[in-house]
Amino acid sequence: MSKTAEPFGGKPSKGKPRFVIQKHQARSLHFDVRIEIDGVMVSWAVPKGPSLNPKEMRLAIRTEDHPIDYADFEGTIPEGEYGAGTVMIWDEGTFDNLSMEKDKNKDKDKSAKKPIPLSKALKEGKIHVWLHGSKLEGGYLFFKSSRPMTPGQEQWFMKKENDDKADARRNPVGTENKSARSGRTMKQIEKAEG
Ligand code: MN
Repeated sequence: MSKTAEPFGGKPSKGKPRFVIQKHQARSLHFDVRIEIDGVMVSWAVPKGPSLNPKEMRLAIRTEDHPIDYADFEGTIPEGEYGAGTVMIWDEGTFDNLSMEKDKNKDKDKSAKKPIPLSKALKEGKIHVWLHGSKLEGGYLFFKSSRPMTPGQEQWFMKKENDDKADARRNPVGTENKSARSGRTMKQIEKAEG
């Protein structure tokens, strides 16, 4: 099946856009961070998962856009299929777009900024969002590397903004191991389909 002929789509959210972070035990463990932009889930694979420490930049490799419905997927991907393994909805919720760019019309004030839509922020490689999740809350920045380590790969970084939700002592990726959707562990998800 071609990549454009996904068997399911899903409607864009009526209110605030959605985000989901799927913990994915495939050949290697990673976290798929997906945010809704213009009717699709724009996606990054974050090997170490998101941090709450604003001093830590997490590598985020841009992956294929996914249909909105995929944000509801928790379960196992069978052997032989792409991404075979276990998928948990580790965190989910809505978000606000806080992305800005320099306001060139106000050249007297060099620091003047204006809000921009997510599609533009994505193109420009600099996204600023405020997540409303159950594990993650607060400002996050995604920015595209101008010098990717692997040619052909879109390398980004995900970083916690230094706001009042930042907390270098909390490490939810290591300590909060249950699904935000079902309360299940990876083992329980795996067994339910076994
Ligand atoms: Mn994945």
